[in-house]
Amino acid sequence: MSILEPGLDGRIEALQGRIAAACEKAARRTDEVKLLAVGKTFDERALEAAADLGLRAFGENYAQEGCAKVDWFRANRPDLAEALEWHFIGPLQANKTRPVAERFDWVESVDRLRIAERLSAQRPEGLAPLNVLVEVNIDGEATKSGVAPEALPEFLDAVAALPGLKLRGLMVIPAPADDAEAQRAPLRAARALFEAVRSAHPEWTDFDTLSMGMSADLEAAVAEGSTEVRIGSALFGRRDYGARH
Ligand SMILES: *Cc1c(COP(=O)(O)O)cnc(C)c1O
Repeated sequence: MSILEPGLDGRIEALQGRIAAACEKAARRTDEVKLLAVGKTFDERALEAAADLGLRAFGENYAQEGCAKVDWFRANRPDLAEALEWHFIGPLQANKTRPVAERFDWVESVDRLRIAERLSAQRPEGLAPLNVLVEVNIDGEATKSGVAPEALPEFLDAVAALPGLKLRGLMVIPAPADDAEAQRAPLRAARALFEAVRSAHPEWTDFDTLSMGMSADLEAAVAEGSTEVRIGSALFGRRDYGARH
């Protein structure tokens, strides 16, 4: 487990300042960009501290760890149950889809139809459809997850047809880049894809989310039209993967 350093309130404030400044520079409203707090390797108490400071959307990468956190909040902070929003953002194996479909509000890393079909079938009847983003392999890295841009239209059609899911948009994780232009190119490409889907499918009125930008590139992502930044280290601090993963 990672250790939460003191000063979370100051880091949240600084982060909100960064997002606001990036929005202003891009002539966008601050409320157009959601802040997702990525808590992997940090424990429930770290997330609770963030929730008590007003953060509402949490992102988790590992099924077991993430589900345990959702359950912890249900048991220990029922006052926050309605207010919190849980996003699954990591790679998801077929044998882990059920607990995620039963607990999370969003899955951002959908890139295989088999996984989408299982999430749809396993979403409990009493819950709203599971919001999903399709992850796109925007810079064509061979080892990376994500749907290839060429395969995206057909893949999106298939996901949109699944009754237990609500297709909300796209997610990308560009490879880290040193210079500003290299950082922006894949973000720009992702935005172009997102806009192309929106023009091709005006009937998809819920297709409104472009999840991109992390601690190191949130300014570039907001400039390129991100509607959700996923922030881990700038918020919670350095991660210690230790023996747990
Ligand atoms: C860990 C992670 C993040 C947060 O990264 P930071 O650089 O710590 O802000 C965002 N998105 C995904 C998919 C992640 O796995």
